[in-house]
Amino acid sequence: MAQSSKVSFSMHGVGVSGGIAIGNAHLVTNALVEVVHYHIPKKALVAEILRFENALARVRQDLEVIREQLPVNAPAELTAFINTHLMILADKHLSEEPKAIIEQELCNAEWALKQQMHELVAQFELIEDEYLRERKQDVVQVVERIIKVLLGHPSEAVQPDESAMILVAYDVSPADAIQFKHHQFAAFITDVGGATSHTAILARSLSIPSIVALHRARDLIRDGELIIVDGNYGIVIVNPDKDTLAEYRLRQEQWELEQQKLKRLKQTRAVTLDGVEVELHANIEVPSDVTKAKSVGATGIGLYRTEFLFMNRREMPAEEEQFTAYRTVAEMMKGLPVTIRTLDLGADKQMNPDAARSCTNPALGLRAIRLCLSEPQIFHTQLRAILRASHYGKIKILIPMLSSLSELRQTVTLLERAKESLRAENIPFDEEIKLGGMIEIPAAAINAEAFARELDFLSIGTNDLIQYALAIDRTDDAVSYLYKPSHPAVLKLIEMTIKAGNKLGKPVSVCGEMAGDVDFTRLLLSFGLRQFSMHPAHILTIKRQVLQTELEQAAPVARKIMNAYDIDKIEPLLAKLNQ
Ligand code: PEP
Ligand code: MG
Repeated sequence: MAQSSKVSFSMHGVGVSGGIAIGNAHLVTNALVEVVHYHIPKKALVAEILRFENALARVRQDLEVIREQLPVNAPAELTAFINTHLMILADKHLSEEPKAIIEQELCNAEWALKQQMHELVAQFELIEDEYLRERKQDVVQVVERIIKVLLGHPSEAVQPDESAMILVAYDVSPADAIQFKHHQFAAFITDVGGATSHTAILARSLSIPSIVALHRARDLIRDGELIIVDGNYGIVIVNPDKDTLAEYRLRQEQWELEQQKLKRLKQTRAVTLDGVEVELHANIEVPSDVTKAKSVGATGIGLYRTEFLFMNRREMPAEEEQFTAYRTVAEMMKGLPVTIRTLDLGADKQMNPDAARSCTNPALGLRAIRLCLSEPQIFHTQLRAILRASHYGKIKILIPMLSSLSELRQTVTLLERAKESLRAENIPFDEEIKLGGMIEIPAAAINAEAFARELDFLSIGTNDLIQYALAIDRTDDAVSYLYKPSHPAVLKLIEMTIKAGNKLGKPVSVCGEMAGDVDFTRLLLSFGLRQFSMHPAHILTIKRQVLQTELEQAAPVARKIMNAYDIDKIEPLLAKLNQ
């Protein structure tokens, strides 16, 4: 085989969308590296500024055309992402500042723009919040698009047989992705990005394997080289040998076969072998995620992260805009429960970088319910929008980051106030709307009984619970090896919370990543958990595990796990439980 003479190597990144793809590399050019610096004579200044303005206009027009021509089945996030790029393009930091640089330094437009981009990126780098920090990539993507126009690049054209093509890019902007023949490529891999980057979100909604943060993929991989992308494990194998290729072709077939088999479970009720029924709900971030949730048979939305509606913009979404989004989800779910979490923004997770306030310990700062209680007007608007939407479906309200009962009581008071304001205006809402709280701070888990007494339901946010219980920043790669859901202290906090809810007859759900991790399904069921909420991509795998679980058989091993105080003993016991 031709590729056997080429150097074979593998790379590791962050797998953000599962599955295996095998195909030929298509390198996407990185116009930024081609920018050179040159001086322009003073008399050419006006023409240079005009060249820059024309490039901006051309990019604006291109993006508008792409937006208009989106196919009907394109993920709805794409429009939002393209709108974000149009907003960045119009921002004076990109549209005006470079002109000042051209004028002051008498330099070429590409160079001025690149300088300004570095300036903006440096400001983004200072932001603690991972999601917001990653928005710098949107700026880079827009700048790259302008630079391509300035340099006279033709737009990327894709060669035949896109289905077996793997995009290798520094980054892939949503607009680029749609241009590559409406996602007919098999996978994409990028040098930058993180689990919450737009690229990652897009890959998940396109359901194609994808790996980000490979750092040097564009440098090391050549156009046309054969590559394997294993999105499940974040592995890229370049120029695989014959045996590796055969092995991965087999794995790919098995993965696809498994996905097909799993699809058959869509309508099956999730019931254990001993007849215990379990609810499998979906976590969503934008209304269009409901389509995916329904396609895998989710019986409700267990967590709607509303902060996505507030991010990447300069002004707060008005009540009407929020109402429309919440109502859309409620109506799409046709009477199935929709759990809307109130804003989980905070010191570290502001709407836009300008609003970000620096803070040494953002995860411990003014965020989520703390922020909402300190900004009652913002909270009031959101509560009214949620209440109004409750008239159109079965909506429940979920409060993030509760640590004390006083926060809960203040929330109840503000909720009553929002209800009163609607009654006064004769606006209908569900008078029986349920209020739940997220248990994601160890103090709340330890005190879960008190919360269960005053709330209608509890939802365990294991992502934050683990971070706070183990003092591990969930976004910091350097300590990720310590982030252990199977830590005995974490398991005890979860068990405690489930038992507290069950004792008082208040439903408990887990909506953190652990709910979608098949290794923990049996243990959580043994704790008495009957409701799981997760990324839609995991629902059918978890359902299969529920269908293959006999609680009576699992109980003694689960007890042993809870009696073990050492993670090294817990892990083999977990493996035994899952046999
Ligand atoms: C969690 O903390 O587990 C959770 C579900 O919330 P988020 O991941 O949005 O913080
Ligand atoms: Mg959380």
